[in-house]
Amino acid sequence: LIAFLLYLFYLVAPIGQLVEGAVQLQQGLAAVKRIKEIEDLPAEPVAVAAPSTAEPVGLRFTDVVFRYAEDRPAVHQGVSFEVPPGGLTALVGPSGAGKSTVFALLERFYEHQEGTITVGGRDIGDWPLPELRAALGYVEQDAPVLAGTLRENLLFAAQDATEDDLRRAITRTRLDDLVARLPEGLDTAVGHRGVLLSGGERQRVAIARALLRRPRLLLLDEATSQLDAVNELRLREVIAEVAAETTVLVIAHRLSTVTNADRIVVMEGGGVRAVGTHDELVGQDELYRELAATQFLVS
Ligand code: ATP
Repeated sequence: LIAFLLYLFYLVAPIGQLVEGAVQLQQGLAAVKRIKEIEDLPAEPVAVAAPSTAEPVGLRFTDVVFRYAEDRPAVHQGVSFEVPPGGLTALVGPSGAGKSTVFALLERFYEHQEGTITVGGRDIGDWPLPELRAALGYVEQDAPVLAGTLRENLLFAAQDATEDDLRRAITRTRLDDLVARLPEGLDTAVGHRGVLLSGGERQRVAIARALLRRPRLLLLDEATSQLDAVNELRLREVIAEVAAETTVLVIAHRLSTVTNADRIVVMEGGGVRAVGTHDELVGQDELYRELAATQFLVS
């Protein structure tokens, strides 16, 4: 019987490894796809060093028309809106309205076909790509936690950050409690091979990682996951604090974010339908009222 059980164990154990292997392979393929997309971008003439200041920049879309492929309908059909330097601007709209595409165009993952996009008053096409990417911080909706320690996760894109920079980013993103709770503090392994972080913590880690690169404009695709009250409050405080120092453009999923925003851009069907504060839009725009009632996560 023991021999049989041992045999069974050897038979079953590799299945777990296979599943893990398949997950890793899938992640690897996604990374290769992303690298391929980056490789396919038009070549940049000269790489210019990132600016030493982190002064906030604004941006402007003017009559932007964009289609992902020639034979596809335009996703942006004349998008126009302005974000002044500093402060919090929220992008809202139904699924498929073109919000994420705004981020993709700003990052120059794709090039728009018509209209103009400026960042800091300068045509986006005139920015050397490394300089543009250095100016932008991008926090994804489900920001991944990388295999490694929390410190490695935070310094991933800012190897030259000092210990002071690191401490400051942790405090600004209200991660001190997390660091204090982890058995080896910043040197604790996190992610699927270490301590698992909640959705709210993961997003704040991603914000801290982005802040360590001193962005002049932070693009934030807000987490849709339900957060507990503490994480909800922390995320709200962090967004408000970051917006007091730099420009933040957020694809908003939370009522607290839109109510705190300096301006909200309502997108619909590849265009901008309305711009205003939460109170103005609730009073004026039917679609916004509907979104506020149905789409935004409570609190
Ligand atoms: P959601 O809230 O669901 O994320 P969204 O407002 O962010 O929606 P986008 O993701 O910008 O909308 O998508 C707008 C349209 O562009 C959709 O019809 C979508 O299917 C299409 N689209 C988005 N990304 C790509 C892509 N990489 N290639 C082709 N089509 C795309």
